[in-house]
Amino acid sequence: MDEIIKAISSDGFVSVAVISSKDLTERARMIHGTTPVVTAALGRTLAAASLIGSAMKKPEASLTVNINGGGPAGTMIVVADSDGNVRGYVQNPLADLPKKASGKLDVGAAVGKDGMLSVIKDFGEKEPYSGAVRLVSGEIAEDFAAYFAVSEQIPSACAFGVLVDTDRSVLAAGGYIIQLLPGVPDGLAELVERNINDVGAVTNILSSGGTQPLVELVMKGFSPRVLERSCVEYRCSCNRERFLAAVASLDKGELEDIRAKGEPVETICQFCNSTYTFELEEFSLIWK
Ligand code: ZN
Repeated sequence: MDEIIKAISSDGFVSVAVISSKDLTERARMIHGTTPVVTAALGRTLAAASLIGSAMKKPEASLTVNINGGGPAGTMIVVADSDGNVRGYVQNPLADLPKKASGKLDVGAAVGKDGMLSVIKDFGEKEPYSGAVRLVSGEIAEDFAAYFAVSEQIPSACAFGVLVDTDRSVLAAGGYIIQLLPGVPDGLAELVERNINDVGAVTNILSSGGTQPLVELVMKGFSPRVLERSCVEYRCSCNRERFLAAVASLDKGELEDIRAKGEPVETICQFCNSTYTFELEEFSLIWK
């Protein structure tokens, strides 16, 4: 089962949120039939969105991440709720690229870096907060670190990884966001940096030990105290009513076309592939 652990250093200056997201990433892969490199791109973004979403305190809050780097994978959209449950899709799930010389999946090339990472935080009241940064590399973790630095002015380091098996299923996925809180003493940032370098690939730790060892490694020397532990999953919030409302809100010309055709309307949820079919009578009520 996927989970998030949040911890803070004993001095209160360093916070970390760690996620293990193998199951939700595998679910995304099954739904969208993604190639390994797209599974990695989407999986890293799902992990990031889950951690950021779970930091939004209000129960009705939601987070939408849009990454549009101009690469062959196309635009990626991920939505998280305030418990960290996520859903997402990518424009070209079948985009494929050769691996890098290092043997790693070339996520940066698949996503591209000619575009923006944008984050919309909707707290269910007033105007949503939105921030955007130019993509740094399309490798996702660096791009989110830039987002935190520019849009939220929080010094952060992130790592996200997805390990894909030879049969294309997800072996391990997850990552962390580590942040320095206001008033952090000199020298602490260097210690954090050293830990990060020592940790190496997050998927190695997640696949062998899970989230707790990752917290301990990233927070080595900081006597971390666990604040919160919670389960997360791939979860879509679509339903018939929402899709019926969407059909009803089409413009007049499109509705006329549907009426002229006289056939039921089939809609498909981009996030979970659920299909909803509406007989003409069902929305004839709305047409009046
Ligand atoms: Zn859905």
